[in-house]
Amino acid sequence: MTTTLNWIENELNSLKDAGLYNRIRTINSPQGAWLVVDGKRVLNFCSNNYLGFANHPKLVQAAKEAIDQYGIGPAAVRTIAGTTSLHTELEKKMAEFKGVEAAITFQSGFNANIATIPALVSKEDVIFSDELNHASIIDGCRLSGATIIRYAHCDPQDLEKALIEHRGRYPKAMVISDGVFSMDGDIAPLDKIYEVSRKYQTILMVDDAHGEGVLGRGGRGIVDHYHLHGKVDVEIGTLSKAFGVVGGVVAGNALIVEWLRQRGRPFLFSSAMTIPDVAACLAGLEILQSSTELVEKLWENTRFFKEEMKKAGFDLGSSVTPITPIMLGEAQLAQEFSKELFENQVFAMAIGFPTVPRRKARIRVMISAAHQKSDLERGLEAFVKVGKKLAVI
Ligand SMILES: *Cc1c(COP(=O)(O)O)cnc(C)c1O
Repeated sequence: MTTTLNWIENELNSLKDAGLYNRIRTINSPQGAWLVVDGKRVLNFCSNNYLGFANHPKLVQAAKEAIDQYGIGPAAVRTIAGTTSLHTELEKKMAEFKGVEAAITFQSGFNANIATIPALVSKEDVIFSDELNHASIIDGCRLSGATIIRYAHCDPQDLEKALIEHRGRYPKAMVISDGVFSMDGDIAPLDKIYEVSRKYQTILMVDDAHGEGVLGRGGRGIVDHYHLHGKVDVEIGTLSKAFGVVGGVVAGNALIVEWLRQRGRPFLFSSAMTIPDVAACLAGLEILQSSTELVEKLWENTRFFKEEMKKAGFDLGSSVTPITPIMLGEAQLAQEFSKELFENQVFAMAIGFPTVPRRKARIRVMISAAHQKSDLERGLEAFVKVGKKLAVI
């Protein structure tokens, strides 16, 4: 046996001891309000499937028809032979939906971030980044080689302080924030961040992964929520959350989008989104543009569930969106809570370090328009039962 890899075993064991080891459950059913998980039927409180698009009949049908017409794989990167008319149509329609000049798609939101940031700033430049930004933003920032200054979470005053201190020494600067923070469910004060970033002449980028299909008129996202059309230079989006498929999108200023076609490395060096994915996203856009019903249902479900959870005595942190963290503290408690919920037919994952800070472990419930009121009531019952058993409430 080699000894050069022994450290991995030690690390894995210490993750297990600390309650931080990822035990991955397997799904044996389509996504929806209920799932079959490891062979057991459970209420789904985990998916980012905000609008129920992951198994929506219209998206499924669109994907099937596109496969019949174009096959499955793009067979190339976008710049060689991987751009079908479906890809360009999705980009055009996405730009219309978001009310921006242009849009470009990527294979994932993660890739969209690591494409965009290094294309816009490099090692002589500076990035001001919210301290709780998503891992893909952090990696994109590192890849760029720019100096990274972290500002206090959702704090435009601290951002301004950092800009005053550092901005002058660098030719280009960028301010980057998540729109909705995926672990806490709070919303960045983008209106104030915009004012500050404009004052110090920085490029403004927002990652709207959890805002798309959720915030703004008919789910048009955080820029629409704050009426900041034309003011945010670049918006990152994902097609894997409310859109229920997989893929990434960058929307905003036409020059930036054009530049990404020339210099976005995951665009140039990784194959395009697949045909069924693109076709399903087009069908999802069509639904969003024709009706606000699902977005309204999502918010109605959110209000109901959160009010009842608060009444029951749970601490939901600072969430103002369908992302509902139930703050528990220690990782072991969160894991135990999740296990007990699963025994009670409720699938809600525990989240611990490094996804959230140490001692801020939680269960995260994701509300969806796919839930019926009776589903939410069933979930509440289980939370109260387990909460009492483990002396959380
Ligand atoms: C989920 C998420 C991503 C990654 O999106 P994928 O399309 O799943 O790669 C990026 N940024 C934020 C803020 C996210 O929440």
